[in-house]
Amino acid sequence: MTATGTDTPTRHDQHGRYPRAETADDFRHNLAAVRARIDAACRRTGRDAAGVRLLPVSKTIDEARIRQAYAAGCRFLGENKVQEAHHKWEAMQDLHDLHWSVIGHLQTNKAKLVARFASEFQALDSLRLAETLDRRLQLEGRQLDVFVQVNTSQEDSKYGLAPAEVPAFVRELPQFSALRVRGLMTLALFSEDTARVRACFVRLRELRERVRQDAPDGIGLDELSMGMSGDFEIAIEEGATVVRVGQAIFGARAVPDSHYWPASGS
Ligand SMILES: *Cc1c(COP(=O)(O)O)cnc(C)c1O
Repeated sequence: MTATGTDTPTRHDQHGRYPRAETADDFRHNLAAVRARIDAACRRTGRDAAGVRLLPVSKTIDEARIRQAYAAGCRFLGENKVQEAHHKWEAMQDLHDLHWSVIGHLQTNKAKLVARFASEFQALDSLRLAETLDRRLQLEGRQLDVFVQVNTSQEDSKYGLAPAEVPAFVRELPQFSALRVRGLMTLALFSEDTARVRACFVRLRELRERVRQDAPDGIGLDELSMGMSGDFEIAIEEGATVVRVGQAIFGARAVPDSHYWPASGS
């Protein structure tokens, strides 16, 4: 899709170097810097920047700093672990317009937590989970935006469906009326090899085109959630509509990425 963007580097080498944001001003500064990178990637590929949603990822960040991010304008936050997200949601009930997106793998026995408070779930990867989430949501009288997670890097350490499994999986989803299917999500290979990172994003986009052709009624597959601090420009060049960005907004995490994606290496 993008002859112009083929030499955009990853920034995985910057991990550990993003400055830590403490105050609302720090957050305003970092958010503006990330938006400038998003805008530049959109300009390179002739995309409208309004078509890319920035989802700040606040995993490991404590309540005090999240409140500063809120003061700087964040109204939607992504969390990798459901219990951590639920605690934060409970602690910040006073921020009525703050919404939570769970972006990490979910065990079926924790589906009821997600059903209670999350606005969005980006890691749907089994029918059993879809069924449990749907049942719990019906009980809560809620609906949930969901993304189907796809493993585009062929690493065993990554969660998500294999691309070949996705078409049949999506055809089963209309039976779960509390799930609003928005699109596909992936984590690229964690690598400084730009071509291999880009290939993951291309795979997700091409899969979306294929699945969309015979998607059932009511299943929207408009969204592509792909790209994080180290690679979101490449993801945007390949069609991302949601980028999930933690460290470039909050600062480098002390916890290594291998904590979230065991044995993924770099
Ligand atoms: C942590 C995380 C991100 C953001 O990663 P950063 O390097 O902090 O930008 C994106 N997606 C998922 C699923 C994550 O767990």
